[in-house]
Amino acid sequence: MRYEFIYNGVLNVIRLGTTLNDKIAPSNLKMIQTYHYSRAQYEEGQNKTTMNKFFGLDSDVCMDCVYAMGNGASLKGCYTHKRDQYSGMLSQLRSIGRIYGDWDNIPVFNEDIQRAIVKMCMDKYVRFGTYGEPVLLPIDLVERVCFVAKSWTGYTHQWRRVPYYDYREFFMASTQGLDESLQAETMGWRVFMDDIEKQRRTHMIGCPASEENGYKSDCAKCSLCSGTKGKGKKSVYIFNHS
Ligand code: SF4
Repeated sequence: MRYEFIYNGVLNVIRLGTTLNDKIAPSNLKMIQTYHYSRAQYEEGQNKTTMNKFFGLDSDVCMDCVYAMGNGASLKGCYTHKRDQYSGMLSQLRSIGRIYGDWDNIPVFNEDIQRAIVKMCMDKYVRFGTYGEPVLLPIDLVERVCFVAKSWTGYTHQWRRVPYYDYREFFMASTQGLDESLQAETMGWRVFMDDIEKQRRTHMIGCPASEENGYKSDCAKCSLCSGTKGKGKKSVYIFNHS
């Protein structure tokens, strides 16, 4: 099951399905994932393309993330730039293309779509932003989904930007290193820190799905990365493995 809609010029896809990534959830768990594509990516994805071309059109959906190719990062920068994931995204975009024929025929976000999505998310684990920025979703929709979901996780790189402060309740600020993390915490965010210095942080929790913590859990079970209204109060860190 899947819903797609345009909101603020971006294509948002909300899908009920499974994942092959066992750090996120067991492969048999029916869960919700959200994807966010630019118009240029939708159009490029309808035809034969390459990972470099497709992900190079990410400015509208990755915004000022340092790993975005639109900001000059290389293809290897972002963990979403994997061959399997890319193929899945292209099939998703082509399926949407076959249904609507043209970008302008894709429905614009409305109350009926919101109601149907909230119903689909009831009692499910929701992973916001499997691809693209989840702050591109309407905040009302995020709030209602989190209210009915069994659990959720979400991350944003837009934590410095005032229009996205409300998402602090639901998503973690995605940060690199301690300085950024302390800054985000001061601004009221819980943080998911990529710990480049690889030091254990006493005021934060080490991600239990990490190598350094023995892959003890997965996100569906743990769900600590769920903002100030979610599970837990502390920030989270994971050692950088690059
Ligand atoms: S802390 Fe929990 S929710 Fe966050 S990434 Fe690790 S396993 Fe997933």
